[in-house]
Amino acid sequence: MQGRKPEQVCLGIEATADDFGVGILDFEGKVLSNVVDAFVPESGGIHPREAARHHARVAGQVISTAIQQAKIQPEDIAIVAFSQGPGLGPCLRTGATAARALAAYIGVPLVGVNHCVAHIEIGKLATKAKDPVTLYVSGGNTLVSAFDAGRYRVFGETLDIAVGNCLDVFAREVGLRRDGVPFGAVVEKLGRKGRNFLNLPYSVKGMDLSFSGLLTAAITLYRTGKHDLEDLCYSLQETVFSMLAEVTERALAHVEKREVLLTGGVAANERLQEMLKAVADEHNSLFCGVPKEYALDNGAMIAWTGILKYRAGVTTPLVDSFVRLKWRLDDEDALWVTDKC
Ligand code: AMP
Ligand code: MG
Repeated sequence: MQGRKPEQVCLGIEATADDFGVGILDFEGKVLSNVVDAFVPESGGIHPREAARHHARVAGQVISTAIQQAKIQPEDIAIVAFSQGPGLGPCLRTGATAARALAAYIGVPLVGVNHCVAHIEIGKLATKAKDPVTLYVSGGNTLVSAFDAGRYRVFGETLDIAVGNCLDVFAREVGLRRDGVPFGAVVEKLGRKGRNFLNLPYSVKGMDLSFSGLLTAAITLYRTGKHDLEDLCYSLQETVFSMLAEVTERALAHVEKREVLLTGGVAANERLQEMLKAVADEHNSLFCGVPKEYALDNGAMIAWTGILKYRAGVTTPLVDSFVRLKWRLDDEDALWVTDKC
């Protein structure tokens, strides 16, 4: 915040899964800081209690680093927002406890935020999209959403695992190594070298998607020992991304919006970006790819959505600040979305 002391800022805490993030924004939507400390399991997937222990360990440090980087004092914080759900119980509870303690200490209101809504709102802020169809694809979520009749509605979603989880489990099962990059990015790199398309179950059911069967099929093909890993990564990506593109395209045609927003950790994938851009072009719509810093789980998205809700008159009393593990984004009136922006 060069030179100017912020009048009002919101501190947002994100802790739905592996990332503990703290972001600070002013009420105009300027990001003053956005700090994330990720839990990386030694092996296997994310164990909720281990991730929560990580969050409890780093919370104090991440909060003070975010405050320092934003060049503010704790008294400058007007509201504390936190990811109230959906997510892993122990992780959510750790983030909520930190948020309650901080809000009580400074004496400011608390605002509980839906994690999926926050991905859309920060995506709109970062790309200037006004009223998009959103494809949100991450390690824990896969959904197509658009605003309609006062709420963000779900037009299609996974019936089982998330697409990021599908890529991660495949990578682990075939023995790929992460070397500091996400498994999805490892699959992407290998997939670029694939040449032969191998048939995998294409599983779109109405507007919903299913990934677990095709994950098993891909692993089974690998175990036959007859196929190159490059071809398998290529085929897996082409299949799952085509499924996502199909559902997004149908939602876009149905709601007749003019923007396609792509967000979540899997949004970093260039092949997926290419496919969604083709969908947007086909329907005379604008493709809006969210920059990585705001597409991954982060505290800034929670802070910004906290500001939007607070300005619309929504705060979360302590008694209502319990975490909501399965909180759907269509389970809340988006009172702050006015005139489709
Ligand atoms: P998130 O759940 O939003 O924190 O995002 C994490 C997910 O994004 C994991 O499943 C990663 O494997 C996935 N991911 C990250 N980079 C890429 C990429 N380049 N291509 C596909 N998936 C990715
Ligand atoms: Mg994450």
